[in-house]
Amino acid sequence: MDFDHDVIVIGGGPAGSTFARYAAAEGMDVLVVDKRKEIGVPVRCGEGLGESEIITGEVDLPGRCFSTNVRGARIYAPNGKSLTWKTDGTQGWVLERKIFDKWLCELAVEKGARVKVYTRATGLLKENGSINGVMLSESGKGEYPARAPLVVSAEGMESMIAREAGFNTVHRLQDVGTCYQYEMKPIEHENLIELYFGKQVAPRGYVWIFPKAGRKANVGVGIGGHLTDWKKRSGIDGAAPKEVLDRFIEKRKGFSDANILTEFGGVISVGAPMKEFVTDNFMVIGTAAKQVDPIHGGGIYLAMHAGRLAAGIAAKAHETKDYSKKTLYEYEKLWRESEGKTCEQRLKLQKALEKLDDEDLDYIIGAVTYKDLELAMSGKFAEPVAKIVAGRPRLLKVLGALR
Ligand SMILES: Cc1cc2nc3c(=O)[nH]c(=O)nc-3n(C[C@H](O)[C@H](O)[C@H](O)COP(=O)(O)OP(=O)(O)OC[C@H]3O[C@@H](n4cnc5c(N)ncnc54)[C@H](O)[C@@H]3O)c2cc1C
Repeated sequence: MDFDHDVIVIGGGPAGSTFARYAAAEGMDVLVVDKRKEIGVPVRCGEGLGESEIITGEVDLPGRCFSTNVRGARIYAPNGKSLTWKTDGTQGWVLERKIFDKWLCELAVEKGARVKVYTRATGLLKENGSINGVMLSESGKGEYPARAPLVVSAEGMESMIAREAGFNTVHRLQDVGTCYQYEMKPIEHENLIELYFGKQVAPRGYVWIFPKAGRKANVGVGIGGHLTDWKKRSGIDGAAPKEVLDRFIEKRKGFSDANILTEFGGVISVGAPMKEFVTDNFMVIGTAAKQVDPIHGGGIYLAMHAGRLAAGIAAKAHETKDYSKKTLYEYEKLWRESEGKTCEQRLKLQKALEKLDDEDLDYIIGAVTYKDLELAMSGKFAEPVAKIVAGRPRLLKVLGALR
């Protein structure tokens, strides 16, 4: 069969662009399509990103891609007490995602990938039941078929094409966080990530303040998507995250005078990753595969990580012209052995955290150190749990499951 490309990637976000960069570097003819008119726009993200090898390993992150460096974090308990961790070095960044995403896409183009914006994948092409491309709808050109032996869904939350390919892309309400965010100025900050917990602040979630250069900050909230009886649970009015955010801002000194430069609402996946990521001639990567950290909803790093892993396996499939599920499964196996393990641990932690009330959180944030939190986030629960349970034995029932 005549193919137009070796692989068609649906979505030019961090997952799709990273896949395209590494697949094109291996000599594959890659087409990336994105339904947006401009890569990275509009931004729907807190823009926080921890330092990691995948970002800085091969190429330096250009200064234009981030607003500021992050120097640590401060976590607020429901009673207002806080735990601070500060360093002199860079622990991560608050990005300018519209520039960052475009930069990732440019890296793919530099390796030879082709990119079409304002072009939507509308359905799968199949012959004798086998996927062999997609239908594209391009502005000004109408609908036409584009053929490739491999299709990659990097579609983010929507993942309509992955659904058509047979994947369970539906999100249950309890597996999403509903969010609202303002970019605000002037906001005084110390280049720390600030997180606020408590049922009056954000039930099953938190408020974040991510610092930006020029006395700006992304101020946002995420709350459990299943909290439809939210008023009953929280004791305060307002079922929507925007109302929750407004309430937080109203109560915070210095914020009520700040201007809102950007605002948006969005939904983050915070459940388990999809049960399968591949089928014959088809791979799913990034948020489309629900590869998102269940604790904080961060998905940029995971999207890039999956993009790179999947591209390595796609290149092998290309070499042997074997795009079967069995061959592509190697990507899924590698993912589950690496980031999949971390996601599993984080999911366990999330389930335990959900059972804590405000008093428990007050106690825990007062009792632990930042090192304890880091241990817990990396899945090493024994030491922090022992410390907490020693001072508050009744938490053994909830946290014991983590040991
Ligand atoms: C409110 C909010 C705050 C967040 N904050 C953070 C944060 O601070 N840090 C962090 O790491 N993560 C954060 N995330 C998550 C992060 O934004 C995503 O996990 C990340 O963007 C995933 O990258 P991706 O490439 O998988 O998908 P996306 O970035 O969503 O890219 C998918 C692309 O596919 C395109 N597309 C979809 N369907 C089609 C189609 N049929 N045809 C053509 N194109 C299509 C879309 O236009 C889009 O450009 C946040 C998310 C939300 C909603």
